[in-house]
Amino acid sequence: MDIKVNFDRLKKDIESLSQIGRDPQGGITRPSFSKADLEARDWLKGRIESSGLALGEDGAGNIFGRKEGKGKTIMAGSHIDTVINGGMFDGSIGVLSALECLRRIKEENIPHSKPLEVASFTDEEGNLSGDFLGSRAFTGLLDQEILEKGLTQFGVPLAEILEGTNFTIQSIMEAHEQRPDIEAFIEIHIEQGPVLETENKTIGIVDGIAGKHYRWCSFAGKASHAGTTPLELRQDAFLGLADFALKSTQHVATEHYGSMVTIGRVSVRPGAFSIVPGQVDFSFEFRSQSKKTLEELKKHLFSLAEDVASTRGLEFGSKLVDETEPVSIPARIQDIMKDECENLGYSSMTLPSGAGHDVQILASVAEPGMIFIPCVDGISHSPQEMIQWEDLEKGANLLLQVLIRLAS
Ligand SMILES: [Zn+2]
Repeated sequence: MDIKVNFDRLKKDIESLSQIGRDPQGGITRPSFSKADLEARDWLKGRIESSGLALGEDGAGNIFGRKEGKGKTIMAGSHIDTVINGGMFDGSIGVLSALECLRRIKEENIPHSKPLEVASFTDEEGNLSGDFLGSRAFTGLLDQEILEKGLTQFGVPLAEILEGTNFTIQSIMEAHEQRPDIEAFIEIHIEQGPVLETENKTIGIVDGIAGKHYRWCSFAGKASHAGTTPLELRQDAFLGLADFALKSTQHVATEHYGSMVTIGRVSVRPGAFSIVPGQVDFSFEFRSQSKKTLEELKKHLFSLAEDVASTRGLEFGSKLVDETEPVSIPARIQDIMKDECENLGYSSMTLPSGAGHDVQILASVAEPGMIFIPCVDGISHSPQEMIQWEDLEKGANLLLQVLIRLAS
């Protein structure tokens, strides 16, 4: 169908939203339910209302704009919250491109039989309670105890963050009761990696999204004097971690190439020149596109940690922080995207997503689909996050055609 997005309007929307939550340290800091986020929410609601779409909001603060139809809903969206000192494109382009598509469908009176809806999900970035608070609330996948007992990354309970808003833990837990039947959920997002740019392609058609496993881990040994304790008598917790880091990486690289394992944060105690480390605490995560591989890694890596601990006289301990299942994108959705890319004359390639996204959670209640556009140098979650605007124009035009086809 010969219809394009109004790109000037979409670009202006993205620039306007990026003015909210500017951080003096650089970039944008707009975690969900912060002052900046509340301002951004009001701005978004205003944009939805002025488009003539029916504005909705559920008990988790997820925001919707709906154009009625019959049957199951075709939904598209993402999130407008950011990490601390984040960029202006991660999430925002998914919400605002979807909004622009619905505006164009309305303006041009494009016929569609099914309802169309834009969605903006709360706290995708996990500043408050693990990743995907809003989309997990929307799909009914939250654990109330974790919301009540856990701490946000700001060191206070979620209930305290919610004070002064219209939301409570109870309203978040009940958000899924208001969910319509959804046929498909489509998200457009920056790639957050270097592949599209390297391959010189404008559009990435995502075929699967990795599942992940996050754990806080520790090796406990014995702190002792660095000058008087012979090497063979030490219970050095740091050496345990070093051994484990190399062996676990080697296992993933040789047995499960394409899957990932990362130790991103380490604290060594007591932490001094003259003391053999008695304790090391570290974050440990692994990801894979394959459910079977994730299961194998869960067994193998933690028994490897136990082995390392026992040969070195250490104790290994760990606590689960979060996990998600890998999701594969149905061929039907990928085929529609490929087809429309060809019609539009855009270069595209199929690729997996190593990062998690709201669409992965939505996959439990709808057919998922995901479009990537390149980001400069693969950088995201940073003030340096950048795109080529013409790539976004193409991505938004592709989204428009995909939505029209799905909702017809
Ligand atoms: Zn995002």
